[in-house]
Amino acid sequence: DGTLNGKVALVTGGSRGIGAATAVRLAREGADVAVTYVDGKEAASDVVRRVEALGRRALALRADSADPREAAGAVLRTAEAYGGLDVLVNNAGVGALGPLDDLSLAQVDRVLAVNVRGVFLASQAAAARMRDGGRIITIGSCMTQRVPGPGGTLYATSKSALIGLTKALARELGSRGITANIVHPGPIDTDMNPGDGPHAAGQAAATAAGRFGTPEEVASMVAYLAEAEYVTGAEFSVDGGYAA
Ligand code: NDP
Repeated sequence: DGTLNGKVALVTGGSRGIGAATAVRLAREGADVAVTYVDGKEAASDVVRRVEALGRRALALRADSADPREAAGAVLRTAEAYGGLDVLVNNAGVGALGPLDDLSLAQVDRVLAVNVRGVFLASQAAAARMRDGGRIITIGSCMTQRVPGPGGTLYATSKSALIGLTKALARELGSRGITANIVHPGPIDTDMNPGDGPHAAGQAAATAAGRFGTPEEVASMVAYLAEAEYVTGAEFSVDGGYAA
């Protein structure tokens, strides 16, 4: 049995990509896992099946992080279903690249609602429900460490806000043994950023490793942070050296 035996985890945006890999990895370490999704009902059910195949309980919750009630509600629904919460992984996020001039107010609101407000509200709800010794792990981005060219203003703004949130949460919740950390993925092969997409070669070349990373490589860092007690308020790059 794994190091997360008996723990309950919620992974937002867990139907695909980094979130799906994280949900399965946490289950492999022993956790029961809930995932949220918006459109990918079938994909989320598939993640549930993979977690259950590992002998853990699993739950797929439709919850749009852009909706304040649903963002917090997913946390409450998980805690209610499993009698508590130990690990929140704030993974759901949307990309938004484009010239500064072209970004509409609606886009700004949408990206900040999903990438920032939803994360804030889920973390707030989790802090209220979480058992002592809990973990809040947020997925940031390598774009908070290095912006390689034009077009990243909105996305970098949204992800950089999560660094401040993480450090402040660590201070707020440290006395309860709850840690808060942020993971910055580099180019990771997912639907959001396909390893064979039009901009893939340049991203791979910008890393020291010379390649895209896999969702499992990010999930591995999340699993470490779910276990570690004396690691909090910190940033961890899983980016193949992209920011070096
Ligand atoms: P994908 O687009 O491949 O998957 C996104 C997941 O989030 C899906 O499960 C999707 O659910 C869910 N999701 C999207 N919007 C919402 C929403 N409003 N509410 C709830 N869930 C939502 O993304 P990745 O796996 O690539 O990215 C995961 C995280 O990692 C994001 O925060 C992203 O910004 C970050 N990241 C990714 C990098 C990369 O290169 N891939 C690099 C750096 C950071 P569904 O479709 O089922 O509705």
